[in-house]
Amino acid sequence: MSFEGRRVVPLSEVGRSDVSAVGGKNASLGELIRHLGPIGVRVPDGFATTADAHREYMRTGGLGDRVAARLADLRAGAALAEVGAAIRAGILATPLPQGLKDEITAAYVRLAPGDGPADPEVAVRSSATAEDLPEASFAGQQETYLNVRGAVALLDACHRCYASLFTDRAIDYRERLGFGESSVALSVGVQLMVRSDLGGSGVAFTLDPETGYRDVVVIDAAWGLGESVVSGRVDPDEYVVFKPVLPQKALNPVIGVTVGGKATKVVYAEGGLTRTVDTDGVERASRVLDDGEARSLSRWAVAVEEHYGTPMDLEWAKDGRTQELFLVQARPETVRSRTDSTVLHRYRITEAGECLVTGAAVGEAVGAGPVRSLAIPVGLERFPAGSVLVTPVTDPDWEPLMKRAAAIVTDHGGRTSHAAIVSRELGVPAVVGTGEATAVLVDGQQVTVSCAEGAQGRVYAGSVGYEVSDVNLTELPATRTKVMLNLADPGAAFRWSGLPADGVGLARMEFMVAHGVKVHPMALVRPELLAPDDRRSVDELTEGYPDRTEYFIDRLARGVATIAASRWPSPVVLRTSDFKTNEYAKLIGGGPFEPAEANPMIGWRGASRYYSDGYRDGFALECRAIRRVREEFGLTNVVVMIPFCRTPGEADRVLEVMAGEGLRRGERGLRVLVMAEVPSNVVLAREFAERFDGFSIGSNDLTQLTLGVDRDSAELADLFDEANPAVTRSIESLIDVAHDAGRTVGLCGQRPSDDPGFAAFLVAAGIDSVSVAPDSFVTVKHHVHKAEQS
Ligand code: PEP
Ligand code: MG
Repeated sequence: MSFEGRRVVPLSEVGRSDVSAVGGKNASLGELIRHLGPIGVRVPDGFATTADAHREYMRTGGLGDRVAARLADLRAGAALAEVGAAIRAGILATPLPQGLKDEITAAYVRLAPGDGPADPEVAVRSSATAEDLPEASFAGQQETYLNVRGAVALLDACHRCYASLFTDRAIDYRERLGFGESSVALSVGVQLMVRSDLGGSGVAFTLDPETGYRDVVVIDAAWGLGESVVSGRVDPDEYVVFKPVLPQKALNPVIGVTVGGKATKVVYAEGGLTRTVDTDGVERASRVLDDGEARSLSRWAVAVEEHYGTPMDLEWAKDGRTQELFLVQARPETVRSRTDSTVLHRYRITEAGECLVTGAAVGEAVGAGPVRSLAIPVGLERFPAGSVLVTPVTDPDWEPLMKRAAAIVTDHGGRTSHAAIVSRELGVPAVVGTGEATAVLVDGQQVTVSCAEGAQGRVYAGSVGYEVSDVNLTELPATRTKVMLNLADPGAAFRWSGLPADGVGLARMEFMVAHGVKVHPMALVRPELLAPDDRRSVDELTEGYPDRTEYFIDRLARGVATIAASRWPSPVVLRTSDFKTNEYAKLIGGGPFEPAEANPMIGWRGASRYYSDGYRDGFALECRAIRRVREEFGLTNVVVMIPFCRTPGEADRVLEVMAGEGLRRGERGLRVLVMAEVPSNVVLAREFAERFDGFSIGSNDLTQLTLGVDRDSAELADLFDEANPAVTRSIESLIDVAHDAGRTVGLCGQRPSDDPGFAAFLVAAGIDSVSVAPDSFVTVKHHVHKAEQS
């Protein structure tokens, strides 16, 4: 639309093609009001002054010529600070033209809502425009005045916005980019205030900004005005909303909720400015948005995305007086939506180097950086991103550091250790079980960590050359045998959503409990048995929940839902908890509920717990979390799997407990699998096949128990061999019996991830699916394809 000759236009008359007339911000607000207002998206009403109005002003009394002369001085060597100050003083000394004042005042009067005061509070924002230039490059360089009230104050704010086109920073920026002053103009946007100083505000992305995953809306939220979130100054709440479920009113699409610290908030100060204050304890602990609000915002976000036809980055605000939500800004997301999720990086070492230590390679990547050797986790500020983390072992407390590391090297732990499983999912190379890394590697020393040379991981001195090539995932061969993923960390699940996998073959619940819940489920059922310290920790963690058990159900359900969403609608096999007693005891409040066992690996684990007096109530919480995921979040692709089920009698008891908790096999499409990891599962395969929908072979435990070799023993590592005929014949026999009974068989143990050739044996044996670590997926897929051809 042409606004030729108009000084002020209502936002409802502008659209996204009007950037040159009213600037990008106002143009996009107008677009929202015009096209999305009618379907219920709320945007604060307002108006904008035009670029023409600004040009008219700059012609007043030769103002523009004087500015040009000053800028010529600058180019001739005058100091920026002096030139800027002189230009701004000149502008403030030149009044706005009467016609412009009248039109602004008239538009302000019209803006007053019928039921409110005649002089409503408004936000006054500058929006720079330049012909043929996207506004983004000028963003944030001009002033904003909030909570401006009355025509006099408004005109003053508009005038000051004009002056702010010439802040030192803006002048410098344009000079460096070579913009002639005549091509730049300023539009002032005036909008009814949303009292988010009394409520909250934040941003929303219509994809996961971290990974580019498209099926979610990710909302960040903090108390007070929006600057805290946008500038990254507070640790906000984060809500992850699953788009495919949004249209179904009976379901809850809010699969992820992380309550952030929100230590400060930005509120109004005198003169239309803002100040930062500390939040109180209640504000810190409570959510800015409830599920219903997160859902409403997400609906709007998806509508905006559909309207623009591209992923969007939005700003929103919640009015603390009316509790109403508003969108206050919308722009296309430009970082993640451009990266190609169908391309995977592969690494190759190209140079010989001096090898300092070796261990088991985790992942297939190479990472380099300075060594940071630590015995206990430190705060993030003491761990520079891109360091190589060197440590004796890791546990969940190390994860924040692991996420920032270029590579990880441990003294202890094998391929199924915490360090290995977590780094594999993070895509960070790790060399585990070196035995001596903390003794050999020195803080600050530059090293290159290579997991790109087969099963042995190597740490080289200095920087060793390597190259990265790309694999186009769309060119991977199709296979009859399903190739699935082993996932445990909800935080990493979206990263792998681009892999053309047939679902998740193993999601280990105990990982989600250790990382996301942290508390022993029985400690929530029987808190009176806890030691005072643990009781305090439990009370702190569960603050804000209606009851303690709800904490467990909520946290676990949202973790499971995130993994389930990452593969929707393909099946996601969730294995119920399979900690050993020594591991359960380490959970907060776990002590009183776990016996000390001499052999936890063959002790009270898996199925035997679920129906026992000592854990049945804890298992009930696991069941309730699963029901919530399937029935409330609508993620019916979740399949349940029972680990370590020693006898058919145990199977019957567990299935009965589950049915009592509303999880009856066959009802609402619920499938229940059993792990084949105890030799009795193989010997009595027919009996187990009568009770379950299928099997998944746990080759780690099956090998341990078939050969009698402790899977974690370094001394016996050579004897731990899944390819031993005692194991492979068990696998063949199980597949035959299960298929006879019409049941499927998969394998989710570690071997094919480390030795993709093992997949060829499985294919020949007629397996239905293999489930592997995500970073082995591409290699395994090729091996399966080749085996299927021959
Ligand atoms: C297995 O035993 O092979 C398995 C996949 O389970 P976990 O490693 O968790 O015992
Ligand atoms: Mg196992």
